[in-house]
Amino acid sequence: MQVPTLGSALLRRAQAGMNAVRERRVSSAAAPVRGVAFAGTVWAGGAEEPRVGTVIVDGSGRIAEIGYGPRPNLPYELLTLGGESHWVVPGITDAHVHLGFDPAQPWISGSVSGLATGLVGVRDLGAPMRWAALWRTGHRAPPPGSPFVAVAGPILTAPGGYPSRSWGAGGYAEFVDSAAHARSRVQHLAADGVDVIKCAIDGGGRDWPVLEPEVLRAVVDTAHSLGLAVVAHALSAEWVARALDARVDELAHTPNERLSPELVQRIADQGVSVTSTLQTFFSSGTGRVAADNAADLVAAGVRLRYGTDLGNAGTKPGVDPRELDRLADTGLGRLGALRAATEYSAQAAGMRQRSGRLVVGQPAALVLLPFSPLAEPGVWRTPAAVYADGRLTVSQSHPHRHHAGESSAR
Ligand SMILES: [Zn+2]
Repeated sequence: MQVPTLGSALLRRAQAGMNAVRERRVSSAAAPVRGVAFAGTVWAGGAEEPRVGTVIVDGSGRIAEIGYGPRPNLPYELLTLGGESHWVVPGITDAHVHLGFDPAQPWISGSVSGLATGLVGVRDLGAPMRWAALWRTGHRAPPPGSPFVAVAGPILTAPGGYPSRSWGAGGYAEFVDSAAHARSRVQHLAADGVDVIKCAIDGGGRDWPVLEPEVLRAVVDTAHSLGLAVVAHALSAEWVARALDARVDELAHTPNERLSPELVQRIADQGVSVTSTLQTFFSSGTGRVAADNAADLVAAGVRLRYGTDLGNAGTKPGVDPRELDRLADTGLGRLGALRAATEYSAQAAGMRQRSGRLVVGQPAALVLLPFSPLAEPGVWRTPAAVYADGRLTVSQSHPHRHHAGESSAR
Protein backbone atom coordinates (compact mmCIF):
# COMPACT_ATOMS: atom_id res chain seq x y z
CA MET A 1 0.00 0.00 0.00
CA GLN A 2 1.18 3.50 -0.75
CA VAL A 3 0.40 6.66 1.08
CA PRO A 4 0.31 9.14 -1.75
CA THR A 5 -2.13 11.50 -0.08
CA LEU A 6 0.15 12.63 2.71
CA GLY A 7 2.47 15.41 1.65
CA SER A 8 5.02 17.06 3.90
CA ALA A 9 2.70 19.90 4.93
CA LEU A 10 0.14 17.33 5.92
CA LEU A 11 2.75 15.47 7.91
CA ARG A 12 3.69 18.61 9.84
CA ARG A 13 0.07 19.13 10.74
CA ALA A 14 -0.17 15.47 11.74
CA GLN A 15 2.74 16.02 14.09
CA ALA A 16 1.09 19.07 15.62
CA GLY A 17 -2.17 17.22 16.01
CA MET A 18 -0.49 14.25 17.59
CA ASN A 19 1.16 16.49 20.16
CA ALA A 20 -2.21 18.01 20.88
CA VAL A 21 -3.62 14.56 21.53
CA ARG A 22 -0.70 13.71 23.80
CA GLU A 23 -1.09 16.88 25.81
CA ARG A 24 -4.79 16.36 26.30
CA ARG A 25 -4.17 12.79 27.36
CA VAL A 26 -7.39 11.80 25.84
CA SER A 27 -10.36 12.64 24.98
CA SER A 28 -11.99 14.18 22.12
CA ALA A 29 -10.51 16.88 19.97
CA ALA A 30 -11.66 18.65 16.85
CA ALA A 31 -9.73 17.30 13.88
CA PRO A 32 -6.88 16.69 16.30
CA VAL A 33 -4.59 14.98 13.91
CA ARG A 34 -4.08 15.66 10.26
CA GLY A 35 -4.04 12.07 9.31
CA VAL A 36 -4.50 9.03 11.51
CA ALA A 37 -3.84 5.40 10.68
CA PHE A 38 -5.90 2.68 12.35
CA ALA A 39 -4.29 -0.76 12.20
CA GLY A 40 -5.58 -4.22 13.01
CA THR A 41 -8.20 -6.51 11.61
CA VAL A 42 -10.26 -4.28 9.33
CA TRP A 43 -13.94 -4.98 8.78
CA ALA A 44 -15.14 -2.37 6.29
CA GLY A 45 -18.78 -3.34 6.83
CA GLY A 46 -21.48 -4.51 4.47
CA ALA A 47 -20.68 -7.83 2.85
CA GLU A 48 -16.91 -7.50 3.41
CA GLU A 49 -14.92 -10.11 5.28
CA PRO A 50 -12.62 -9.02 8.12
CA ARG A 51 -8.97 -8.90 7.03
CA VAL A 52 -5.70 -7.64 8.45
CA GLY A 53 -5.12 -4.12 7.22
CA THR A 54 -4.84 -0.39 7.83
CA VAL A 55 -7.34 2.45 7.44
CA ILE A 56 -5.99 5.98 6.92
CA VAL A 57 -8.19 8.98 7.69
CA ASP A 58 -7.03 12.31 6.24
CA GLY A 59 -7.16 15.79 7.71
CA SER A 60 -10.64 16.46 6.39
CA GLY A 61 -11.99 13.46 8.29
CA ARG A 62 -12.43 11.35 5.20
CA ILE A 63 -11.13 7.87 4.68
CA ALA A 64 -8.12 8.31 2.39
CA GLU A 65 -7.15 4.70 2.04
CA ILE A 66 -7.94 1.17 3.14
CA GLY A 67 -5.05 -1.24 2.66
CA TYR A 68 -5.03 -4.95 3.34
CA GLY A 69 -2.12 -7.18 4.16
CA PRO A 70 0.89 -6.60 6.41
CA ARG A 71 1.40 -3.14 7.89
CA PRO A 72 2.72 -0.79 5.23
CA ASN A 73 5.61 1.58 5.82
CA LEU A 74 3.72 4.59 7.08
CA PRO A 75 5.42 7.98 7.43
CA TYR A 76 6.78 8.07 10.95
CA GLU A 77 5.01 11.33 11.70
CA LEU A 78 1.66 9.71 11.15
CA LEU A 79 -0.22 8.89 14.33
CA THR A 80 -0.96 5.18 14.25
CA LEU A 81 -3.48 3.59 16.58
CA GLY A 82 -4.21 -0.10 17.01
CA GLY A 83 -2.15 -3.20 16.43
CA GLU A 84 -2.33 -6.90 16.02
CA SER A 85 -5.21 -7.68 18.37
CA HIS A 86 -7.24 -4.61 17.39
CA TRP A 87 -10.25 -4.36 15.10
CA VAL A 88 -11.15 -1.38 12.92
CA VAL A 89 -14.88 -1.31 12.21
CA PRO A 90 -17.71 1.11 11.36
CA GLY A 91 -19.38 2.75 14.37
CA ILE A 92 -22.78 1.48 15.47
CA THR A 93 -26.13 3.22 14.89
CA ASP A 94 -29.13 2.61 17.18
CA ALA A 95 -32.28 2.89 15.06
CA HIS A 96 -34.69 3.09 18.02
CA VAL A 97 -34.04 5.22 21.09
CA HIS A 98 -35.98 7.56 23.37
CA LEU A 99 -33.67 10.30 24.49
CA GLY A 100 -36.54 12.07 26.19
CA PHE A 101 -37.18 9.52 28.90
CA ASP A 102 -34.47 11.30 30.78
CA PRO A 103 -33.75 14.64 29.14
CA ALA A 104 -31.09 15.33 31.73
CA GLN A 105 -29.05 12.30 30.83
CA PRO A 106 -25.56 13.47 30.19
CA TRP A 107 -24.71 11.29 27.24
CA ILE A 108 -26.62 13.32 24.72
CA SER A 109 -24.58 16.33 25.69
CA GLY A 110 -21.46 14.36 25.25
CA SER A 111 -19.62 13.46 28.40
CA VAL A 112 -20.39 9.85 29.22
CA SER A 113 -21.47 7.77 26.35
CA GLY A 114 -22.28 8.33 22.75
CA LEU A 115 -18.96 8.36 20.99
CA ALA A 116 -17.18 6.92 24.00
CA THR A 117 -18.99 3.63 23.48
CA GLY A 118 -18.79 3.39 19.73
CA LEU A 119 -22.29 4.64 19.00
CA VAL A 120 -22.10 7.13 16.11
CA GLY A 121 -25.79 7.58 15.31
CA VAL A 122 -29.23 7.27 16.92
CA ARG A 123 -32.82 7.66 15.76
CA ASP A 124 -35.27 8.96 18.36
CA LEU A 125 -38.68 7.39 17.70
CA GLY A 126 -40.94 9.49 19.86
CA ALA A 127 -40.56 12.72 21.83
CA PRO A 128 -42.25 16.09 22.19
CA MET A 129 -41.28 18.27 19.24
CA ARG A 130 -39.73 20.96 21.46
CA TRP A 131 -37.12 18.44 22.61
CA ALA A 132 -36.72 16.64 19.31
CA ALA A 133 -35.96 19.95 17.59
CA LEU A 134 -33.13 20.55 20.05
CA TRP A 135 -31.58 17.11 19.59
CA ARG A 136 -31.90 16.82 15.85
CA THR A 137 -28.63 16.93 13.94
CA GLY A 138 -30.02 17.54 10.46
CA HIS A 139 -27.38 18.82 8.10
CA ARG A 140 -25.05 20.18 10.78
CA ALA A 141 -22.27 18.25 12.43
CA PRO A 142 -23.32 16.79 15.79
CA PRO A 143 -21.93 18.56 18.88
CA PRO A 144 -18.63 17.16 20.17
CA GLY A 145 -19.10 13.80 21.84
CA SER A 146 -22.62 13.33 20.53
CA PRO A 147 -23.75 10.81 17.96
CA PHE A 148 -25.72 11.90 14.90
CA VAL A 149 -29.40 12.23 15.97
CA ALA A 150 -32.43 11.75 13.71
CA VAL A 151 -35.88 12.40 15.16
CA ALA A 152 -39.51 11.45 14.59
CA GLY A 153 -41.02 14.04 16.95
CA PRO A 154 -44.32 13.03 18.58
CA ILE A 155 -45.96 9.69 17.84
CA LEU A 156 -49.17 9.92 15.80
CA THR A 157 -52.01 7.92 17.33
CA ALA A 158 -55.80 7.84 17.69
CA PRO A 159 -57.33 10.24 20.28
CA GLY A 160 -56.76 8.57 23.65
CA GLY A 161 -54.67 5.87 22.01
CA TYR A 162 -51.30 4.33 22.90
CA PRO A 163 -49.04 5.71 24.31
CA SER A 164 -51.06 8.70 25.58
CA ARG A 165 -52.49 6.79 28.57
CA SER A 166 -49.22 5.32 29.67
CA TRP A 167 -45.64 6.50 29.34
CA GLY A 168 -46.46 8.96 26.57
CA ALA A 169 -48.84 11.15 28.52
CA GLY A 170 -46.54 14.17 28.55
CA GLY A 171 -46.58 15.21 24.90
CA TYR A 172 -45.08 12.07 23.35
CA ALA A 173 -48.32 11.30 21.50
CA GLU A 174 -50.20 13.50 19.07
CA PHE A 175 -53.80 12.68 18.18
CA VAL A 176 -55.21 12.41 14.69
CA ASP A 177 -58.91 11.72 14.31
CA SER A 178 -59.60 11.89 10.57
CA ALA A 179 -57.82 11.57 7.24
CA ALA A 180 -57.88 15.35 6.75
CA HIS A 181 -56.46 15.88 10.22
CA ALA A 182 -53.78 13.28 9.54
CA ARG A 183 -52.70 15.09 6.39
CA SER A 184 -52.47 18.38 8.27
CA ARG A 185 -50.50 16.91 11.20
CA VAL A 186 -47.98 15.18 8.94
CA GLN A 187 -47.49 18.40 6.98
CA HIS A 188 -46.83 20.27 10.22
CA LEU A 189 -44.31 17.67 11.39
CA ALA A 190 -42.55 17.86 8.04
CA ALA A 191 -42.42 21.65 8.35
CA ASP A 192 -40.98 21.24 11.84
CA GLY A 193 -38.15 19.27 10.25
CA VAL A 194 -38.69 15.71 11.45
CA ASP A 195 -36.59 13.04 9.72
CA VAL A 196 -39.23 10.30 9.79
CA ILE A 197 -42.88 9.83 10.85
CA LYS A 198 -43.73 7.47 13.73
CA CYS A 199 -47.22 6.14 14.33
CA ALA A 200 -48.63 3.81 16.98
CA ILE A 201 -51.11 1.03 16.22
CA ASP A 202 -51.72 -0.64 19.54
CA GLY A 203 -54.89 -1.34 21.51
CA GLY A 204 -52.84 -1.84 24.65
CA GLY A 205 -54.84 -4.99 25.41
CA ARG A 206 -57.45 -2.65 26.90
CA ASP A 207 -59.46 -1.57 23.87
CA TRP A 208 -57.67 1.73 23.62
CA PRO A 209 -58.59 3.55 20.38
CA VAL A 210 -56.41 2.65 17.38
CA LEU A 211 -55.85 4.60 14.15
CA GLU A 212 -58.54 3.64 11.66
CA PRO A 213 -57.31 2.20 8.36
CA GLU A 214 -58.23 5.29 6.30
CA VAL A 215 -56.58 7.63 8.81
CA LEU A 216 -53.43 5.52 8.85
CA ARG A 217 -53.43 5.45 5.08
CA ALA A 218 -53.64 9.25 5.00
CA VAL A 219 -50.64 9.45 7.37
CA VAL A 220 -48.58 7.19 5.12
CA ASP A 221 -49.63 8.74 1.81
CA THR A 222 -48.99 12.28 3.04
CA ALA A 223 -45.61 11.35 4.49
CA HIS A 224 -44.57 9.64 1.28
CA SER A 225 -45.68 12.62 -0.79
CA LEU A 226 -43.36 14.76 1.36
CA GLY A 227 -40.45 12.37 1.04
CA LEU A 228 -40.75 10.99 4.58
CA ALA A 229 -40.93 7.32 5.54
CA VAL A 230 -43.29 5.95 8.20
CA VAL A 231 -42.22 3.73 11.08
CA ALA A 232 -45.05 1.90 12.84
CA HIS A 233 -45.24 0.62 16.40
CA ALA A 234 -47.31 -2.57 15.93
CA LEU A 235 -46.69 -5.56 18.19
CA SER A 236 -49.55 -7.98 17.46
CA ALA A 237 -50.53 -9.83 14.31
CA GLU A 238 -53.71 -7.78 13.94
CA TRP A 239 -51.94 -4.42 14.13
CA VAL A 240 -49.03 -5.55 11.98
CA ALA A 241 -51.54 -6.47 9.28
CA ARG A 242 -53.14 -3.03 9.57
CA ALA A 243 -49.72 -1.39 9.24
CA LEU A 244 -48.97 -3.46 6.14
CA ASP A 245 -52.35 -2.62 4.61
CA ALA A 246 -51.45 1.07 4.94
CA ARG A 247 -48.01 0.47 3.33
CA VAL A 248 -45.84 1.63 6.21
CA ASP A 249 -42.09 1.40 5.54
CA GLU A 250 -40.72 -0.03 8.76
CA LEU A 251 -41.78 -1.70 11.99
CA ALA A 252 -40.29 -0.05 15.07
CA HIS A 253 -40.09 -3.36 16.96
CA THR A 254 -39.96 -7.05 16.32
CA PRO A 255 -43.61 -7.98 17.06
CA ASN A 256 -43.98 -9.85 20.35
CA GLU A 257 -47.10 -11.81 19.49
CA ARG A 258 -46.36 -14.85 17.36
CA LEU A 259 -46.77 -14.08 13.65
CA SER A 260 -48.09 -16.59 11.12
CA PRO A 261 -45.82 -17.67 8.24
CA GLU A 262 -48.19 -15.83 5.89
CA LEU A 263 -47.80 -12.56 7.78
CA VAL A 264 -44.02 -12.95 7.91
CA GLN A 265 -44.06 -13.47 4.16
CA ARG A 266 -46.17 -10.32 3.66
CA ILE A 267 -43.60 -8.29 5.61
CA ALA A 268 -40.89 -9.69 3.35
CA ASP A 269 -42.88 -9.18 0.15
CA GLN A 270 -43.61 -5.54 0.98
CA GLY A 271 -39.94 -4.85 1.72
CA VAL A 272 -40.72 -3.68 5.25
CA SER A 273 -37.70 -3.66 7.56
CA VAL A 274 -37.85 -4.28 11.29
CA THR A 275 -35.91 -2.68 14.14
CA SER A 276 -34.96 -5.41 16.58
CA THR A 277 -35.49 -4.14 20.19
CA LEU A 278 -35.20 -7.75 21.37
CA GLN A 279 -33.27 -7.28 24.61
CA THR A 280 -35.81 -4.94 26.17
CA PHE A 281 -38.52 -7.52 25.41
CA PHE A 282 -36.43 -10.16 27.16
CA SER A 283 -36.14 -7.79 30.12
CA SER A 284 -39.92 -7.53 30.29
CA GLY A 285 -40.71 -11.19 29.68
CA THR A 286 -41.84 -11.27 26.04
CA GLY A 287 -38.45 -11.81 24.48
CA ARG A 288 -38.78 -15.46 23.53
CA VAL A 289 -41.76 -14.87 21.22
CA ALA A 290 -40.16 -11.79 19.68
CA ALA A 291 -36.92 -13.72 19.10
CA ASP A 292 -38.84 -16.53 17.38
CA ASN A 293 -40.51 -13.97 15.13
CA ALA A 294 -37.14 -12.36 14.43
CA ALA A 295 -35.69 -15.70 13.37
CA ASP A 296 -38.63 -16.26 11.01
CA LEU A 297 -38.22 -12.74 9.59
CA VAL A 298 -34.52 -13.30 8.94
CA ALA A 299 -35.24 -16.65 7.29
CA ALA A 300 -37.78 -14.90 5.03
CA GLY A 301 -35.19 -12.31 4.00
CA VAL A 302 -36.54 -9.38 6.01
CA ARG A 303 -33.93 -6.80 6.94
CA LEU A 304 -33.45 -6.46 10.70
CA ARG A 305 -31.91 -3.24 11.98
CA TYR A 306 -30.22 -2.89 15.36
CA GLY A 307 -32.26 -0.88 17.85
CA THR A 308 -32.52 -1.01 21.64
CA ASP A 309 -35.56 1.14 22.51
CA LEU A 310 -33.27 2.98 24.91
CA GLY A 311 -35.28 4.41 27.79
CA ASN A 312 -37.24 1.18 28.33
CA ALA A 313 -36.74 -1.74 30.70
CA GLY A 314 -33.25 -3.17 30.79
CA THR A 315 -31.63 -0.58 28.50
CA LYS A 316 -28.74 1.78 29.10
CA PRO A 317 -26.98 4.33 26.91
CA GLY A 318 -24.35 3.19 24.47
CA VAL A 319 -23.97 0.03 22.44
CA ASP A 320 -25.77 -2.94 24.02
CA PRO A 321 -23.77 -6.15 23.44
CA ARG A 322 -26.81 -8.18 24.54
CA GLU A 323 -28.87 -6.78 21.67
CA LEU A 324 -26.04 -7.71 19.30
CA ASP A 325 -26.14 -11.28 20.57
CA ARG A 326 -29.94 -11.44 20.37
CA LEU A 327 -29.55 -10.43 16.71
CA ALA A 328 -26.80 -12.99 16.18
CA ASP A 329 -29.08 -15.69 17.60
CA THR A 330 -31.77 -15.01 14.97
CA GLY A 331 -29.56 -16.81 12.47
CA LEU A 332 -27.53 -13.77 11.45
CA GLY A 333 -24.44 -14.81 13.40
CA ARG A 334 -22.20 -12.24 15.05
CA LEU A 335 -20.91 -10.73 11.79
CA GLY A 336 -24.47 -10.50 10.46
CA ALA A 337 -25.53 -8.82 13.70
CA LEU A 338 -22.76 -6.25 13.24
CA ARG A 339 -24.00 -5.55 9.73
CA ALA A 340 -27.52 -5.03 11.15
CA ALA A 341 -26.02 -2.57 13.65
CA THR A 342 -23.88 -0.66 11.17
CA GLU A 343 -24.91 -0.64 7.50
CA TYR A 344 -28.57 -1.50 8.03
CA SER A 345 -29.27 0.71 11.05
CA ALA A 346 -27.25 3.60 9.57
CA GLN A 347 -29.51 3.40 6.52
CA ALA A 348 -32.77 3.30 8.48
CA ALA A 349 -35.36 5.83 7.31
CA GLY A 350 -34.44 9.38 8.28
CA MET A 351 -30.79 8.72 9.07
CA ARG A 352 -28.23 10.79 7.18
CA GLN A 353 -24.50 11.34 7.11
CA ARG A 354 -23.70 7.73 7.87
CA SER A 355 -23.28 4.81 5.50
CA GLY A 356 -22.43 2.35 8.26
CA ARG A 357 -19.43 1.22 6.22
CA LEU A 358 -15.81 2.24 5.74
CA VAL A 359 -15.60 3.64 2.23
CA VAL A 360 -12.66 5.49 0.68
CA GLY A 361 -13.64 9.10 0.06
CA GLN A 362 -16.46 9.09 2.63
CA PRO A 363 -16.35 10.75 6.06
CA ALA A 364 -15.00 8.35 8.65
CA ALA A 365 -17.33 7.14 11.41
CA LEU A 366 -15.19 4.31 12.72
CA VAL A 367 -14.28 2.59 15.94
CA LEU A 368 -11.04 0.95 17.03
CA LEU A 369 -11.80 -2.00 19.31
CA PRO A 370 -9.08 -3.56 21.49
CA PHE A 371 -10.02 -7.08 20.36
CA SER A 372 -12.47 -8.98 18.20
CA PRO A 373 -16.17 -8.08 18.51
CA LEU A 374 -16.92 -11.48 17.02
CA ALA A 375 -15.20 -13.19 19.94
CA GLU A 376 -16.86 -10.95 22.55
CA PRO A 377 -19.46 -8.29 21.68
CA GLY A 378 -18.89 -6.81 25.16
CA VAL A 379 -15.78 -5.18 23.70
CA TRP A 380 -18.13 -2.46 22.41
CA ARG A 381 -18.31 -1.10 25.97
CA THR A 382 -14.59 -0.29 25.91
CA PRO A 383 -13.48 1.01 22.50
CA ALA A 384 -9.86 2.09 22.19
CA ALA A 385 -10.73 5.01 19.93
CA VAL A 386 -13.57 6.50 17.96
CA TYR A 387 -13.24 8.76 14.92
CA ALA A 388 -16.39 10.48 13.72
CA ASP A 389 -17.34 13.90 12.37
CA GLY A 390 -13.70 14.93 12.18
CA ARG A 391 -13.11 14.24 15.87
CA LEU A 392 -10.82 11.66 17.38
CA THR A 393 -11.63 10.29 20.83
CA VAL A 394 -8.96 8.07 22.36
CA SER A 395 -9.54 5.99 25.47
CA GLN A 396 -7.39 6.90 28.45
CA SER A 397 -6.38 3.28 28.82
CA HIS A 398 -5.32 2.87 25.23
CA PRO A 399 -1.57 3.34 24.72
CA HIS A 400 -1.60 5.11 21.39
CA ARG A 401 1.53 4.65 19.50
CA HIS A 402 3.62 5.87 16.77
CA HIS A 403 4.63 3.79 13.86
CA ALA A 404 8.37 4.44 13.89
CA GLY A 405 8.94 4.98 17.59
CA GLU A 406 7.99 8.08 19.47
CA SER A 407 11.49 9.23 20.27
CA SER A 408 12.39 9.81 16.66
CA ALA A 409 9.40 12.03 16.12
CA ARG A 410 10.12 14.59 18.79
ZN1 LIG B 1 -39.86 2.98 21.40
